[in-house]
Amino acid sequence: MTFPISLEFFPPKTDEGAEKLRAARQKLYALRPEFCSVTFGAGGSTQDGTLQAVRAIMAEGVPAAPHLSCIGQTRESIRERLAAYAAAGVQRIVALRGDLPSGYGSGGEFRYASDLVAFIRAETGRQFQLEVAAYPEVHPQAKSPQSDLQAFVAKIEAGADSGITQYFFNPDAYARFMDELGRLGVRVPVVPGVMPITSSTQLLRFSDACGAEIPRWIRLRLQAYGDDSVSIRAFGLDVVTQLCEHLRAAGAPGLHFYTMNQAAATQEICGRLAL
Ligand code: FAD
Repeated sequence: MTFPISLEFFPPKTDEGAEKLRAARQKLYALRPEFCSVTFGAGGSTQDGTLQAVRAIMAEGVPAAPHLSCIGQTRESIRERLAAYAAAGVQRIVALRGDLPSGYGSGGEFRYASDLVAFIRAETGRQFQLEVAAYPEVHPQAKSPQSDLQAFVAKIEAGADSGITQYFFNPDAYARFMDELGRLGVRVPVVPGVMPITSSTQLLRFSDACGAEIPRWIRLRLQAYGDDSVSIRAFGLDVVTQLCEHLRAAGAPGLHFYTMNQAAATQEICGRLAL
């Protein structure tokens, strides 16, 4: 039986970026992804880019799932976005709250992703399969681990079908999250999000922003490699491949790769996993 993988891209901002992404996708399609998702900039810059990238992926014969974040949006703007996605043939959406740039206030007619999920179900019934975000290491703004778990459950109760996690490097956090969900009687698939390690500065910057913990031993090793990108890449491939093996053995229902619009690392990891 094949083990499902999905791939995440961000909308390119330039023609050159679009061409590079197209080339990366062509290589990654050899992995036969279940779907490719495309992020949605909450700040407004890449919202149309999401739809363009989704159209390009679907024209290549691969199912595509746009992300949709609700912060700062009105019901009407979400309604229009849903209509555009439906017209493009989209069947799956990753429904999120999103983050506003600092100083933007709160604004908009939605507070949490669970409000968006409920709205999409009320407006479009079961038309879309809905994925939502999960945080095995706890969302950085959560009041407590328990309230964050409840926030995930609220998204499922509002009508979401499954979860995709923020990336993490500690598989025990995922196992515990799944155990706790099970104890609450919530048995939906939650697919681990996997971030290939290709650059230490990029990883450290991202992880600080999204609250993903980089274990001390990984951080120290990356620091010790300095700008030796060959060693960082080799180390990163070993660490992330082992993480994926661990997750698969622990019963993860699939893997969702944050490709950063690059093919090589995801290809290499999946090759080593024989996926
Ligand atoms: P929510 O589930 O609404 O949670 C946000 C915070 O509110 C959490 O701290 C939660 O504990 C708390 N909370 C939720 N409900 C309640 C409640 N009822 N009472 C009290 N507290 C509550 N961002 C983008 O801008 N664009 C993207 O394309 C994008 N894609 C992503 C894909 C994945 C798989 C993941 C994991 C994240 C993605 N993000 C994206 C980041 C995400 O938007 C941020 O992490 C954001 O801060 C939270 O979004 P959410 O959907 O998890 O929000």
